[in-house]
Amino acid sequence: MRYTLNTIENERLPNYIGGVLRPPLSGRYLDSFNPATGQRWYQASDSGAEDAAAAVAAATAAAANPAWAEITQTARGEMMFRLADLIAENADTLAQIETRDNGKLLRETRAQVHYLAGYYRYFAGMADKLQGETPPFPKAKILNFTQREPLGVVVVIVPWNSPLYMMSCTVAPCLSVGNTVVIKPSEHTSASAIAFAELIERAGYPAGVVNIVTGFGNVAGEALVRHPGINKVAFTGGTETGRKIAANSAIHPVPCNLELGGKSPHVIYADADLERAVDGVIAGIFAAAGQTCVAGSRCFVEAAIYDEFVARLSDKTAKIRLGDPTDAHTEIGPLALKAQLEKAIRYAEYGVSDGAKLICGGKQPDDGALAGGWFFEPTIFSEASNNMRISQDEIFAPVLCVIRFDDEADLINQANDSRYGLAAGVWTKDINKALRFARAINAGTVWINTYRAASFISPAGGFKESGYGKHNGFEAMREYSRLKSVIIDYSNTTQDAFVIRL
Ligand code: NDP
Repeated sequence: MRYTLNTIENERLPNYIGGVLRPPLSGRYLDSFNPATGQRWYQASDSGAEDAAAAVAAATAAAANPAWAEITQTARGEMMFRLADLIAENADTLAQIETRDNGKLLRETRAQVHYLAGYYRYFAGMADKLQGETPPFPKAKILNFTQREPLGVVVVIVPWNSPLYMMSCTVAPCLSVGNTVVIKPSEHTSASAIAFAELIERAGYPAGVVNIVTGFGNVAGEALVRHPGINKVAFTGGTETGRKIAANSAIHPVPCNLELGGKSPHVIYADADLERAVDGVIAGIFAAAGQTCVAGSRCFVEAAIYDEFVARLSDKTAKIRLGDPTDAHTEIGPLALKAQLEKAIRYAEYGVSDGAKLICGGKQPDDGALAGGWFFEPTIFSEASNNMRISQDEIFAPVLCVIRFDDEADLINQANDSRYGLAAGVWTKDINKALRFARAINAGTVWINTYRAASFISPAGGFKESGYGKHNGFEAMREYSRLKSVIIDYSNTTQDAFVIRL
């Protein structure tokens, strides 16, 4: 690939607009850092409104280009199968870039990029499964059919925690339906998207079908969302930004899909398999250093086993290995941003001052080898209550609060007492209890005796302030297509011109 760890180092990365890698019209660049060392490793284009407008113009032209607008659905699928093969072939390079950019474990980014190849294959196969229906019409000799069409230009705004994965959750269904896209990665993690552009080209996508504009959210991102030429916004990121996106996309107005934050309850009943539940809770909160939207950051434990469970949890947490994310033995890498590290430190202080008991972590590691990076020890607060700041605010760091519950009613009250509704998990051997929880909880995804199991076929998306709209499965094809109804009268009869034909 043209962009690898070596060729990105100290480079100024361009945008990708209309099939061409080009420097930003703004002439500005922004620094991007390696979170494991705190050192700058490249500069990304700091695009302005003129770059955003150029990308929307390229995407609009591509949407009308017969090379894209008139190819068959099957051919669109074949193009995406080629893209999936290219992703699999170049997975290692893409994974290394992501790990250098956001500090996620290399073995996780590798697994994620390989999973992405499957993700694109699923949506490649879906391209010619998208079809309309023929609803019966309550009048003789009238035929009604529906057809699903692309929306046009979709703006895709992506966060830094899983850049290629989050981008692809929208890009795969969008291209499968026949849309064109303008992608705005996070200012902190632009490199993998720009490297990805090469694969788009090699897969045979016509120029302008995929465009990538990097830069600051409140400049390049906002210019894209407010542009009158776009047809939908797909946003993944924080709830506060989501509010701005919804307000700005309402200007024209175009629909938006919001995948926002979470503060997910992770429940342990006394009858659970405690060994598996401890591992589930650790994976749920400490994977990716807590920087996953579905992090199980509020752990509810039934009173009868509270002390025992907390002891097991802290024993295991104390043995977690922090370190270089490219080292195969590392279990937690650095936080992706300095601001995230500062937030983790601040919330650890809130936890103590609000009266929770700090039993693990709560600080940066003492290990001198990690001193330059943005590392934070896996942190557990016991004796937390659900109204504390550590229990109500999304911290997006390896900080867990453990809350006691007495019975089912108490649990549901506390677990639902959150402004978020993204995901939830429950561990119990009683399936009736688990299903009652799944029904009562306000969350878009509920895991029973597992956590963070994901599939490109399973619809995912939040409730409440975690947003609206769905990723994955056929739901995503609906999200990025529009439904048209065509009605044909073949009766050859005349009708009263002034009366609607009911
Ligand atoms: P942000 O909301 O800060 O940013 C997300 C993206 O939006 C970035 O590309 C950002 O650019 C851009 N942006 C910021 N302001 C605007 C604006 N006014 N108009 C248009 N675009 C804008 O989120 P983070 O990147 O900090 O990601 C962390 C958040 O994302 C967490 O809250 C997490 O829960 C959520 N998330 C949700 C997921 C889900 O599926 N529900 C998945 C992953 C994360 P820039 O980087 O330059 O600010």
